[in-house]
Amino acid sequence: MVVLILPILVGWALGYLVNYLSDTLPVTRRLSQPTCPNCRHEIGLRDFMLGYSCRHCGRPRFIRVWSVLLALTAMSVYIWLNPPHNLGYLLGMALITYFAVVFVIDMENRLILHPTSLVGAGLALIAGWLVHGIARSVFGGIAGFLFMLILYYFGVLFARYRTRRMQASGFTPDDEEVLGAGDVILAGILGLALGWPLIWFGILLGILLGGVYGIFLVLAMVLTRNIKGRALQIFMPYGPFFILSAVFIIFLPHFIRYMLPG
Ligand SMILES: [Zn+2]
Repeated sequence: MVVLILPILVGWALGYLVNYLSDTLPVTRRLSQPTCPNCRHEIGLRDFMLGYSCRHCGRPRFIRVWSVLLALTAMSVYIWLNPPHNLGYLLGMALITYFAVVFVIDMENRLILHPTSLVGAGLALIAGWLVHGIARSVFGGIAGFLFMLILYYFGVLFARYRTRRMQASGFTPDDEEVLGAGDVILAGILGLALGWPLIWFGILLGILLGGVYGIFLVLAMVLTRNIKGRALQIFMPYGPFFILSAVFIIFLPHFIRYMLPG
């Protein structure tokens, strides 16, 4: 039990790092004092540590701050006990921290930032290299990037169609992108980490997870009778689901093995 104190402390500290980066990067684009994304008021140290709501506008922070802390600590203990093959605990935690930052920022801001992508690409290349070899890592990266690039252009076509439909039915078009350019870069990064051919399974699992979430979203709208006019306004963030899929494949390979044929 005593040996678990170290991963618990490391996980908890990295949880604060993820909270800090998710509070600052999308708002100020640099390492500054954490600011409320809603009213730009600075968040004090105590409120930051305990996850209190913004004192200025009341924007809640509690659920996100504590889910991040608990998730990072749980993952740290899990990875300490089951370090991924050829990666080890430290690199595993570096990847988890990067995934968590992108996950939270994308969920809250629908945004994948280029500086985080740059750090992620470096980490993913090292991880992919160690686990799959340099060639399969690079091929995986190219495959993920190109596949999502094609989907991205389909998304652009769909967005044009959607804008016309929304104008025709009397709604103001909102310029919502079905798939962002950040998703394309993210798929490339995950391809580097997962390698060839595992990236295909990663994309498939990500789309499946996203689809399940989409079904729940539509069901919730139908149940709350909020469907009118909103069916065309549904936004599907794919980034977080691709990240969940990569976490499953890298850190829970036994679980994934049951799902793969052969
Ligand atoms: Zn605020």
